Amino acid sequence: MAHIPLQNLTIGKFHEGLLKKEFSALEIAEAYFGEIKERDGKIGAYLSANEEEALRQAEAVDVSLAEGDEIGLLAGVPLAIKDNILIKGQPATAASKILKNYVASYDAGVIQKLKAEKAVFLGKTNLDEFAMGSSTENSAFKITRNPHDLERVAGGSSGGSAAAVAANLALGALGSDTGGSIREPAAFCGVVGFKPTYGAVSRSGLIAMASSLDQIGPLAKTAEDAAIIFNAIRGRDPLDATSADGPNGSDKKILEPEFEKIKNLVVGVPEEYFVEGVSEEVKKCVETARKTIESMGVKFKKISLPHTKYTLSCYYIIVPAEVSSNLARFDGIRYARIAHNARTNAGGTRNNAEKIQRDSALSPRMSALEEIYFRQRGRGFGAEAKRRIILGTFVLSSGYYDAYYKKAQQVRSIIKNDFENAFRDVDVIFAPTTPGTAFKIGEKTSDPLAMYLEDIFTVPVNLAGLPSLSLPVREKPARQSLGAGGKEGMPVGFQLIGRQWKDHEILGLGQYYERATAPDLY
Ligand code: GLN
Repeated sequence: MAHIPLQNLTIGKFHEGLLKKEFSALEIAEAYFGEIKERDGKIGAYLSANEEEALRQAEAVDVSLAEGDEIGLLAGVPLAIKDNILIKGQPATAASKILKNYVASYDAGVIQKLKAEKAVFLGKTNLDEFAMGSSTENSAFKITRNPHDLERVAGGSSGGSAAAVAANLALGALGSDTGGSIREPAAFCGVVGFKPTYGAVSRSGLIAMASSLDQIGPLAKTAEDAAIIFNAIRGRDPLDATSADGPNGSDKKILEPEFEKIKNLVVGVPEEYFVEGVSEEVKKCVETARKTIESMGVKFKKISLPHTKYTLSCYYIIVPAEVSSNLARFDGIRYARIAHNARTNAGGTRNNAEKIQRDSALSPRMSALEEIYFRQRGRGFGAEAKRRIILGTFVLSSGYYDAYYKKAQQVRSIIKNDFENAFRDVDVIFAPTTPGTAFKIGEKTSDPLAMYLEDIFTVPVNLAGLPSLSLPVREKPARQSLGAGGKEGMPVGFQLIGRQWKDHEILGLGQYYERATAPDLY
């Protein structure tokens, strides 16, 4: 087998190479498993790999090709899937102890679609437990490290998927984004992350976090690759009542961007997104990217999203409320039971015996069933899941519902209105993806509020249901002189936020920028 430089591969190039018989799908899949075995021990992108089935899937593509069948753009493409998305017969843990032994009994809507395209699934990637977090440090199983600097986080919650793509351990990946979980790790790892319009992609078979915000989307090396994956997974699914095809014609241009029209888009820069607290490094890099796009003929305009400052308080009421209700189904009995004497810490058998004794002391006041729930959930959920279940139950409880939950929903409408007003003047909004670059492992784990602040620029998009594309700043010279805040040379990301159902516009603008700054990718 010829040496295949996986770092130069994109989905487009893979497809071409496959048709020209430069390599087979099997050879590429084997090459990725070789890399995973050699390097993922240090990075920790994957929770489980599924080599046997993946190699069979790849071989089937080679057979189809040999028989002269037409194959689509994703045939044989090795993908990594976040471990909160179900693939029949494979584990789906959501990085939680409570689902440690769960094996999915059906395929998620997106997986059905990718299987129809003959994509290859390399394995399931690490995440913050139930997708709650911004660093993948909340996984019950392991930390995912940033491939650019192993002392730093990969971002989260789709940290495993972002790291897999960045480290050439997968050609593309799926993640989920409730408040930034695709875009933030994409920015930290220097890859492309796309959060589609809410409803554009089915949530069937996605382990729910906050259903009114959750959205599955691609992580990839280029905006073009992200568009190819998005085009395959989007569309109405009868199993998700909130999914839709979108207005007629909104889809046509996803694979063939009309650059002449894209050049005429007017892009807004919100003043509230370039304030104190954003690192100098991020400001400089993002400004460089903005100037590049401007020099390519795109017009920029200052805009205001005046209620940005209420975003996090609104999000961190709505999310725990929905989390507390979605996580109620995990009782440790359905979806695979966790062991009765499961260890909660490294304390050993004696501690366990004492703990069970302590727990049993509760039994006079509890029914046997409640006691099981109490134990299973107490042991099965990690700290962040518990924090949100408790907060969520509180904000939904009678007496507090109006003061917190209802109020937060009203604020959500105001934030949505901000965007609607802005989109009267501009077609796309340009902003940093995160206030800083990838931070050190452990730096923010003891301070949940500092961790929540990472989401300040990504969360508004979810509250408003809009599409957003995070792209790495590609201009090399501008990056070298920097270093303030983060380690010199850590990736910086910026977002292109689009109007609802105008996903194709931001994907097109992203490609326009990439073709100018990273022509070798095309
Ligand atoms: N970091 C955010 C949170 O913890 C976003 C998570 C996500 O998008 N899944 O809620």
